[in-house]
Formats: sequence, structure tokens, C-alpha cells
Amino acid sequence: MPRIVYVNGRYLPEHQATISIFDRGFLFADAVYEVSAVLNNRLIENRNHLRRLHRSLDELAMDSPLTDPEIVAVQEELIRRNELREGVVYLQISRGAADRDFVFPTGAQPTMVAFTQVKPLLSSPQAEEGISVITTPDIRWGRPDIKTVGLLASSMAKMQALQAGADDALLVDSEGYITEGSACNAYIVTTDNTIVTRHLSQAILPGITRSSILELAREAGLSIEERPFSVSEALAAREAFVTGSAAFVLPVVKIDNRQLNRGRPGPLTTRLRKLYTERALREAGERD
Ligand code: PLP
Repeated sequence: MPRIVYVNGRYLPEHQATISIFDRGFLFADAVYEVSAVLNNRLIENRNHLRRLHRSLDELAMDSPLTDPEIVAVQEELIRRNELREGVVYLQISRGAADRDFVFPTGAQPTMVAFTQVKPLLSSPQAEEGISVITTPDIRWGRPDIKTVGLLASSMAKMQALQAGADDALLVDSEGYITEGSACNAYIVTTDNTIVTRHLSQAILPGITRSSILELAREAGLSIEERPFSVSEALAAREAFVTGSAAFVLPVVKIDNRQLNRGRPGPLTTRLRKLYTERALREAGERD
């Protein structure tokens, strides 16, 4: 069965779905996106994803072609048609198609596409064993807090990690502080068991998973500091982990070839992953 995708009001087999070569998402990365996790055929934290989608659209003075209930209906229809039990729904809105010009067009109809991807969220080798990361300069544009499809720098960082035999990259600002991962928020646990993660600003994406993890950590009485942390602090940390909707919580067991926690997922990371997974499963089990 071919995957069924959504494009501008239609559900089509993926090989039949097309958009214009003049689409500004294609020509200028003038498009925003969201990735929502799906467990038990149900969207996880989707209200928060839609809230952030609107923030991204507002920052770029871009319109949504659909209302929120209409967007949710598209996401749910894709889950249904593709029988997606565990994975993600990707959705993207661009400013639409117009003759190439740096000036935002007036009256262009926004383009919306959406599709499902099957992904293991509840258990995976990376979740059980942890990932290794390299550190590399953060060369992204100045507004990674807006979730745009301009992801080439992140893709290059990921490739650099793979070429170095690692799984992912942590991005480092010009002052030597880690901003976030190539597609995830980054955390360390200090030797006095404090969770440290970069504070929200224009330098990082305000992760939906980040917000939930900090809430769960607070509820559990854990100590949290939202501030910049350097590469050397990360190398000396007791544990490290990353979060994202398509990964939940992944332990980081090696940074720049230096092992953390003897190369095993740390206890605090394991506890937070469990707390987050339980919360997601509760949401997946809820009925309207
Ligand atoms: N940071 C970046 C750069 C990302 O691309 C992502 C997810 O795609 C995240 C953080 C994690 O955000 P969320 O938890 O909302 O998926």
C-alpha cells in the first residue's frame, strides 16, 4: 500500500503529490513545520505543536491555509489512512508559490503538505544504549527559534557526526557554549545532580519535549538550571541527554570520544525517559 500524503486539500499516493517549482518553501526555505509524535494511533502533545506552529507563522508574517481543527483533522486522517500506530506526522506550511522575488508576495495561497513516518519511539537501540555525539560550531541562521525548513546547517552537522563515527552533533556557539543538538535540545547532569539546559532565547528552538521534561523534572523535585553550558562542562558532566518529539529522551553516552557514566545511560536520564514515556502513553490512552 503506497503512503497517502496530504497536499493542499487532497489526499494522494505519495508519488502523485506535487507542488509548484515556484513554491517559496523550495526557493527560499520560506516555510515552517512541525513534527508530532504518534503513539497508539494518537497524536502526542499536538496542542503545543500547533501553538508553536502559530508562533513560527506569526514571526514570519505568514498565514495558515487551515484552522487548527482543520489541521488536526488532516493529521488524524493521515494516521487513519496510513494505519500509523507509532511514528510521527510531519506538517509543513509555506508562503506559497509566486514568481521568484525576495519581496513577500501579496495574495499567494499558502502551501500545506503533511505526511506520516513510521518510527520506533517507545524502544530503540539508541534509547537503550545511548548515543555518541560530536561537538561542532553552530553555523545556523540567527533565528533557529523559528521552526523553518532551512535545515541545511543541521543536516551538515549530522553528516559530520556520522562521518566521525558518531550518531549526532551538539552545536556550539562562538563563545564555546552548547546551544542544542542538530534536531534536539541538549542537557547535562552535573556531578551534584543538577539538570542544566540552555535557557530559551533566539539561539535555540523552544522544544515541546523540553518544556514537558522540565515540568516533569520539577514535579519530581529535581534541581534544574536553565543557562548556557560549555563543552568542557559537558565533558565533565555525570550524564547528558537530548530530547525531541521523534526521539523522546535519548541518553548521550559519549561526547567527542569521551565516555560519560562509563558509556552507559545514566540513572537520572533513564528516570526522565520513563516519566516522559509514561506521560505520552497516558495521553495516547485518553479518549475524547
Ligand atoms: N531543537 C531543534 C533544532 C529541533 O529541530 C528539534 C526538533 O525537531 C528540537 C530541538 C526538539 O523539539 P521538539 O521537542 O519540539 O520536537
